[in-house]
Amino acid sequence: VGELQLIEAIRDVLDAPGERVVRWTGDDAAVVRARPFAVTSIDTVAEGVHFDLSTHSPADVGHKALASALSDLAAMAAEAGEAYVSLALPESLATGDALQIVSGMATLAKLTGTTIAGGDVVRAATLVVTVSVTGWADSQDQLVGRDGATAGQALGVTGELGASGAGLMLLRRAVPSVDRSVTEALTGRHRRPEPRLAAGRALAHAGATAMIDLSDGIATDGRHLARESNVRLEIDIDALPLAPGVAEVAAAADRDAAELALTAGEDYELLFTIPPERWDAAASASDVPLTRLGSTLDGEGLHFTGGDAPDLDLLRGYEHL
Ligand SMILES: [Mg+2]
Repeated sequence: VGELQLIEAIRDVLDAPGERVVRWTGDDAAVVRARPFAVTSIDTVAEGVHFDLSTHSPADVGHKALASALSDLAAMAAEAGEAYVSLALPESLATGDALQIVSGMATLAKLTGTTIAGGDVVRAATLVVTVSVTGWADSQDQLVGRDGATAGQALGVTGELGASGAGLMLLRRAVPSVDRSVTEALTGRHRRPEPRLAAGRALAHAGATAMIDLSDGIATDGRHLARESNVRLEIDIDALPLAPGVAEVAAAADRDAAELALTAGEDYELLFTIPPERWDAAASASDVPLTRLGSTLDGEGLHFTGGDAPDLDLLRGYEHL
């Protein structure tokens, strides 16, 4: 299949554009009705680095590429807008698989109100999918950065932690199998992470002062937030909202569950700070449960409380895996 035919076929997989999009795939460039603030992020996933076709279907790859880009918009509290996609496809990848990548992406795009408004297809040695997303906001104060936390605020996280890391271990058969429904839930969380777009906006509206999405895990992403805000994050290990089955998988792998949840990454939950008196408003506005992990203090870096002493040692010198 030639490149032009493939692009035609891709266009057939895509849903009609949202009303903001004036011109899209058939033109040289997309044209979009702008709102006052454009929020843009770009993310690349490469076979063998971010995913493996032995553990991810082509549709999973498309989902994951768009989800990780949209997660950055969620962390800024932007409303999802358009996505622009570059597919670098190896000769060995069947045309049907290439279309499955786009259709996995299109399914998530529809769920999140995103229009896939343009893109490019090239031949390459390995499969690489790059997604640039643009989100929108009407005013600057609707958006949240990493730098707004001050000492004395509550530190919270959306949803559950550790599911993606435990799911990846199960997909790689790195641990003995656990209960089938638990396996399905955890591997599903790894293959199809959900960007927390609605929660991010609800948190911002409730008064969140800083946010970051957990692509690398709290041990890494928490440090980014602490550094940008110039505060210290105190995190109670015993408060971590571990997804069901994470403790079981960690035990089977002879790893500490909290350490797995803090370092494995790709949960794409949101870590945020908020004045404590705004917590209840945030919790009732969010579409996913919030868990209070601790507080912000004067100082820098992360400080773990609770848990067992050896686990704390493990995390103390943690930088990045
Ligand atoms: Mg991010």
